[in-house]
Amino acid sequence: MSTKLYDISDWCRQGVEVQSYPYIGEVDIDVSIGTVIKVQNKYYSPGVVGKGYAGVQLIKLNLEPDDENYEDNIKCPYCGYEDRDSWECDDSDDNHECGRCGATIEYERVVTVEYNSSPKRPPDIVETRWI
Ligand SMILES: [Zn+2]
Repeated sequence: MSTKLYDISDWCRQGVEVQSYPYIGEVDIDVSIGTVIKVQNKYYSPGVVGKGYAGVQLIKLNLEPDDENYEDNIKCPYCGYEDRDSWECDDSDDNHECGRCGATIEYERVVTVEYNSSPKRPPDIVETRWI
């Protein structure tokens, strides 16, 4: 089997037909969502897969990454993908699958507490003089 790859980096701008996106080339494997494709030292992440074709995005992959700390969302240390629906996730997960590259990562939600205050009633004051 082989799969024709199309670049869907700007997905939706050219409709939902994968074949109307820029053609990258053909590979001699079956492609599946959640598995990164490596061709000539470039990494592609499939976003849409059909019979004999796939819409992919060129991604940068770091296979020995550091932690990603205090980000606004869950961020994959491997591919840098930021899950903008992180608020829907549990408070923590030891086996979380990256929505783009399929890597397994772990995360914990960090909650910080802050306070707002507003003036409501000034203090009572009694006026007097020195004796
Ligand atoms: Zn990832």
